[in-house]
Amino acid sequence: MSLEKSIEEFRYKGTLGVCPFAKLISTLNAADKKALLSALEKRIPDVTLASALRKEGYKIAEISISQHRKGLCRCENKS
Ligand SMILES: [Zn+2]
Repeated sequence: MSLEKSIEEFRYKGTLGVCPFAKLISTLNAADKKALLSALEKRIPDVTLASALRKEGYKIAEISISQHRKGLCRCENKS
């Protein structure tokens, strides 16, 4: 394995497979998690979810939610 590949491997170690949004979901209490998953099913816009989550004190970017929903986040890029 080349040094370049090893650097990339270790750079993402620990975070691979979990994007910021998935990480946030895993930290929510049962009630908040239920509310968020229900909002995702109702196709509530990313910006609305991001604003609501930030109001509740969670740090999340709209783009993180968007990428997770579209399957473009790290969750879908395990290799
Ligand atoms: Zn994700």
